[in-house]
Amino acid sequence: MTDRLSREISYLRLSVTDRCNLRCTYCMPAEGGPGLARKDILSYEELLRLAYLLAGVGVRRVRLTGGEPLLRKDLDRLVAGLKAVPGIEWVGLTTNGVLLKEQLPALLCAGLDGVNLSLDTLDREQYRQITRRDSLAEALEGLEAARSYSMLRVKLNCVPTALNRDQWVSLAALAQGTPVLDVRFIELMPIGLGIGIPRCEEAEILEALEGAFGPARSCPREPGTGPARYVTFAGFAGRVGFISAVSHPFCHGCNRIRLTARGGLKPCLQYGLETDLAALLRGGASDEELSAQIGRIIWEKPAGHHFQCASALGDESRAMNQIGG
Ligand code: SAM
Ligand code: SF4
Repeated sequence: MTDRLSREISYLRLSVTDRCNLRCTYCMPAEGGPGLARKDILSYEELLRLAYLLAGVGVRRVRLTGGEPLLRKDLDRLVAGLKAVPGIEWVGLTTNGVLLKEQLPALLCAGLDGVNLSLDTLDREQYRQITRRDSLAEALEGLEAARSYSMLRVKLNCVPTALNRDQWVSLAALAQGTPVLDVRFIELMPIGLGIGIPRCEEAEILEALEGAFGPARSCPREPGTGPARYVTFAGFAGRVGFISAVSHPFCHGCNRIRLTARGGLKPCLQYGLETDLAALLRGGASDEELSAQIGRIIWEKPAGHHFQCASALGDESRAMNQIGG
């Protein structure tokens, strides 16, 4: 369905947990926070019922996220269930990669279509500083495992900050070789613990990359591939992308909604606006009642974020792992 601004909503970011095995400084507090009680997290059966209804209003692509989605037991069961929902054409996963190597075979058997792996550095000490954990080796094993499946679309996502400035070129260089890998720089958003951390913008990153690889060439936009703008360099098999929600907003073409791990449907990352589908579902609501609420919140999707307006930062006060990144 379309929202009141005629944006077609077809993409769901589905958070399956708020827990994580890392503690990235811009995402989660060092102590981790209390975490949702198990009973408050939607079961796979509940998620699949909502997925049927969301597909009924036009959701076609689903990305599993969190927290760290691979902490959720038997995630392949959910992937298989989602792939069986009429209308859902594509299911992807965003992960820190630490547990990916062992789980990937089952996820692929279940029909997983794509993996985005978040990695901000290739330097072990820096990784420890950013994630507060010593898991770089496991994350790299996860990346290699994903790259070994030629049919799987793999993207590497890096949040550029002053801390990992010396890694931008090495990370982008991963897009040089084969198998093909796209490396994307995701601008830090002032949300949750990201508030107050200075962000690095794409012009600065591009300058560093052009210094190393020569002039960048813009890649044509592929329809339905999201908000990233891609460039490539001479001799590169893959591309380098920029997703710059703050400095280059893409709200006018936004097609996404988010479901939090506790069952809140959010039409925009930055706003507190959310409908509590879990309460309705567990209170015995019919499919018609749930679909009506889904339709209402989609219709009310805000026109755009207001990250640049400092006075309005408090709309969504939760950390990224609690919302579902
Ligand atoms: N744990 C998984 C992972 O790290 O890929 C999935 C959840 S994580 C919240 C999803 C993505 O959000 C990660 O790529 C992470 O770097 C990004 N992220 C977290 N906080 C952010 C912020 N304030 N601004 C921009 N990206 C952020
Ligand atoms: Fe965990 Fe992902 Fe947040 Fe890092 S960004 S703390 S890996 S949820």
